[in-house]
Amino acid sequence: MEYDPNNVFAKILRREIPAKIVYEDPHALAFHDIQPQAPVHVLVIPKGAYLDWPDFAARASDAEMAGFIRAVAETARLLGVEAAGYRVLSNIGADGGQEVPHLHLHIFGGRKLGRMVPAAG
Ligand code: 5GP
Repeated sequence: MEYDPNNVFAKILRREIPAKIVYEDPHALAFHDIQPQAPVHVLVIPKGAYLDWPDFAARASDAEMAGFIRAVAETARLLGVEAAGYRVLSNIGADGGQEVPHLHLHIFGGRKLGRMVPAAG
């Protein structure tokens, strides 16, 4: 699949649609999920045009990778969930349930998060 520059997160990056931004640096943007599934639910995206985790792993520079990973940790710190703990998750492809085709990591926190993967069905 080719990267679609009109996906919703690309539009957020270009400031064509609004988002509640938590953190930004040269490599990454973090903003609140529009339909939060936990008291804290924030998405962190790289600024480059990457479809998903395997695409990022294959094509991103070392600096982009380091910057993105550090941005995820810094976002969690700014959200105040570091001490209590949190979950980082990335959905990939159809079985993963990925809806938006721009790499994003979800940060969940603010309560005990329960089972790591819900039961099938
Ligand atoms: P995925 O299933 O692709 O891992 O997750 C996509 C996430 O993006 C979902 O949690 C969904 O609520 C969120 N989302 C979809 N559209 C928008 C939007 O326009 N703004 C924001 N802030 N989040 C969005």
